[in-house]
Amino acid sequence: MDGETSKLAYFNLTKGIPWRFGPAWPGQRCLAKTRRGTACLKPALKGKTRCALHGGRSTGPRTQRGLQRISEANLKHGRQTKDKLAAQRHAAEVGRRVMGELKRLEQQIVDAGLMPDD
Ligand SMILES: [Zn+2]
Repeated sequence: MDGETSKLAYFNLTKGIPWRFGPAWPGQRCLAKTRRGTACLKPALKGKTRCALHGGRSTGPRTQRGLQRISEANLKHGRQTKDKLAAQRHAAEVGRRVMGELKRLEQQIVDAGLMPDD
């Protein structure tokens, strides 16, 4: 009886179309977003996270030019590239060193009695 009920529910959910990949299908679905903004419901290709319609057959960029093109397409503003972040870290390190040196000099002047300590 229960099996019969769930079969009927499944039949209603799939609108009468016998469908292998119904809502209860446990496999990996395509993770792409459709033009409607909804999730793609097709099953992903074996070992992939996309269906054939959404690039599941792609093997990725192969040439240096292709890699460059993908990199440029994914770059939004370039404010957080590896080079920029490294430069920011370096500037912060230099700033910390300068501030430490200033504090040390100030303490020496205060200790020598040339400047009030407030
Ligand atoms: Zn898809």
